[in-house]
Amino acid sequence: MLVVMQAHASEEQVRAVCEKIDAAGLRAHPIPGAERTAIGITGNRGEVEIGLEEMPGVAEVIRVTKPYKLVSRDVKQENTVVHFPGSPASIGGPELAIIAGPCAVESREQTFAIAERVHRAGAQFFRGGAYKPRTSPYSFQGLGEEGLRILAEVRERWGMRVVTEAIDNESLELVEEYADVIQIGARNMQNFSLLKRAGRAKKPVLLKRGMAATLEEFLMAAEYVMCEGNYNVILCERGVRTFADHTRNTLDLSVVPAVHRLSHLPIVVDPSHGTGKRNKVTPLSRAAVAVGCDGLIVEVHNDPDRALSDGMQSLYPEQFDELMSEVRQIAAVVRRELPYQLAQNRRVLGTPDAPATAAAR
Ligand code: PEP
Ligand code: MN
Repeated sequence: MLVVMQAHASEEQVRAVCEKIDAAGLRAHPIPGAERTAIGITGNRGEVEIGLEEMPGVAEVIRVTKPYKLVSRDVKQENTVVHFPGSPASIGGPELAIIAGPCAVESREQTFAIAERVHRAGAQFFRGGAYKPRTSPYSFQGLGEEGLRILAEVRERWGMRVVTEAIDNESLELVEEYADVIQIGARNMQNFSLLKRAGRAKKPVLLKRGMAATLEEFLMAAEYVMCEGNYNVILCERGVRTFADHTRNTLDLSVVPAVHRLSHLPIVVDPSHGTGKRNKVTPLSRAAVAVGCDGLIVEVHNDPDRALSDGMQSLYPEQFDELMSEVRQIAAVVRRELPYQLAQNRRVLGTPDAPATAAAR
């Protein structure tokens, strides 16, 4: 159910409706919009008959027919933009979010070498796994908390916000403490206890699409996070398993406009896991931006041949520079912006001066 408040409804009226919902043993989720506030109700089975229509400030009470509620555009028409305290970076706004870095944090030296390059190329977010969900128990499993400490140093030094994966409730505690965005991987998209724990976290969640998840299952997973009270969810398309064997997964770019139609949440695209092949990462990054994604998450390594995971799909830093320059041109066509590169790059490339916000980075 969804309570739509009148445009001029006061804060007290919104609060009174929320209190009535909570008192009935349900949960109220007030969602302020540009013109009016809507209040999503969860925890109910069927109609909610508690006289909400009669309350002051209420315009109407409508039944949400889709299985997901808080994720839906019916509940919130405006796009969700995820902001980061102390940073001009955002996800879901006019600027494309560029998240880049290695598959795994392997050492301080490796991580810093990559961070320096992707920051210089214009990434506002740094990725790197400290906890790695590997197919083989004998493969490198990540540095754990030491890896998180290295990521925190990257944020300190370059100002990039840090995205890293939590693989279980235990690692989520630490990831929440050190990182700016909690990544939930494809293998855990339907780990409902982990989703609920992420929903109680105070940091945004980047939710990757499961390997064989339909769009509805993907959105329902996001609903798990949101109904616990965490509304900062970023969806991520990373390819699904099909019969095709020329790529590791099949990157489903059609899901981007489908998500934008059904949901207000931002969606970023991961062409690295989506293809598994370095030579396909830049072409599919171009396509992802053309199709209207809100950002890219790309694996970059300073020495991919010796990478401890996903070397085959990791770009060399120079290739990432080229990707940024190509994507910048396509972004303009779909009226999106890319972050400006640092001063030394601007001089070399002869691009215009950065706007004040970006220059502060
Ligand atoms: C990753 O981002 O390194 C990763 C393991 O991704 P996914 O969950 O999409 O396989
Ligand atoms: Mn990887």
